[in-house]
Amino acid sequence: MLMMKQLLYLLISLFTFNPAVHAFDSKGHQYLEQQAYKLLRNYPNGQVILDWLVQNKILSEGLPSRSQYPDNALERQFTQSRQGYHFMTSNFNVLGAAKSKGDLPQQEELLLRSLGPSLQMMYYFFREIIGNPQGASQAGRGIYVLMHIVADSYSTEHTSRDSATTQLRTIKGWKISRLGWPKIATSKEPGKETLLLLHHGKPAPGDREWFYLNGNDTVLTAAGMNAAKAMCELLVITYEASRQPASSDALVCHYFEQYFQPYQSSISNKTFVFAGTPKNVHYNFGDHYEANKKAVILHYDRFPFYSLMLTAQSGFSKQNLFNTFGAEIERYISPRAADKAFALIRRTPVGYGFGVVYINNHPPGATFASALRFKGFVSFSFALPLINASLDPHGGISVYPAASSTRFSPHAGLDLVWNPGKDWYFINSHPRTLRLTLGYEYDPWNVFLQNSIKLKIGYNTWHGRIVVPKRISRG
Ligand SMILES: [Zn+2]
Repeated sequence: MLMMKQLLYLLISLFTFNPAVHAFDSKGHQYLEQQAYKLLRNYPNGQVILDWLVQNKILSEGLPSRSQYPDNALERQFTQSRQGYHFMTSNFNVLGAAKSKGDLPQQEELLLRSLGPSLQMMYYFFREIIGNPQGASQAGRGIYVLMHIVADSYSTEHTSRDSATTQLRTIKGWKISRLGWPKIATSKEPGKETLLLLHHGKPAPGDREWFYLNGNDTVLTAAGMNAAKAMCELLVITYEASRQPASSDALVCHYFEQYFQPYQSSISNKTFVFAGTPKNVHYNFGDHYEANKKAVILHYDRFPFYSLMLTAQSGFSKQNLFNTFGAEIERYISPRAADKAFALIRRTPVGYGFGVVYINNHPPGATFASALRFKGFVSFSFALPLINASLDPHGGISVYPAASSTRFSPHAGLDLVWNPGKDWYFINSHPRTLRLTLGYEYDPWNVFLQNSIKLKIGYNTWHGRIVVPKRISRG
């Protein structure tokens, strides 16, 4: 029953494009961002810092809140490898911790597995912002995406922090991203409503703990203030590192020590060390960032580039299975900015392509040419929850060059697209270039293919929006 409810909720949220499926409502993010600016203004040189960040186009003129928009990027909500955009972790890590037979409590076990990758992502994004803030923002990352991650890290649905020190106890996974969980994962945290290793899904009471309304006034809670403080300090180190890029590495590592230190850990040589276990978490990623900026982006933000697919198609009305064969080539445009209005649309990958098919079941006596159908199409790609696949609606025009009557016909369809393999670029260097699809297509003109199912097999290459560092004026 619970599974059905979860599945139903997922489908509803997918098809209604519910933008707040995951994190706390966008108002929370807006308030936190404004509070961060307010805190910074109270610093001795705070106004100078804010003015400089605006002048250098790192922050927007007039300081409108923009850190709420990243929640609207669907693939970052649903894809397991992209949970770090909300300071959460993958199912893989949650299951590993839940099933762990070690001596450590499950929350600590999960933190040990998830903190390194989470900080690695933040480290890279920070360095990218220092190198080219506008480029990073246009590519779909940038300061507002990083502020969003920092804010999310203070939600009790996303993490558990010690109430006195705000040090991290764990980083959670997303409950509705999987149908069944080991019991320990969905048990409650001692004395709290939040879950031990997971975000509730919906309703998520922990995501509403940021503020309350006092008449018409918004009042941030202590947790909200902690988040705003961490966002404010992020702006300070962004300013300092932009003025002195050589200090970027030291600044961001110090920032991790202040706001992302695990509970009851100590710091040694840019590593969080835990008592009672030889495991530790290293948080300086400078060497790898310098060596391979491109792989960094392919790891966190990659999308199909070109695909080449062989197709086999079968009309519903004919008995012969898969009597129609062809090939399709498609090129995809990677999504852009995640920190602007309409991020839902901007973050949806679009593709366009051409195909040719030979219809083996054409009328008797017809020529080879009359059995050929060409088509042009566009497609959109929507990442799916639960499975590592996407749903791609497409539509276009078919051309029958040798047909005796109408030569043009519209067509439309829906493909389920799957790249087998784990969606981690570094850990499992499997490139996932094999691409399989199962789809439905409608073409009113063609009697054989009016309603058809289509299998495709082929491969796709990957690309990501690489940001080239540039010098900004350091006045
Ligand atoms: Zn979020």
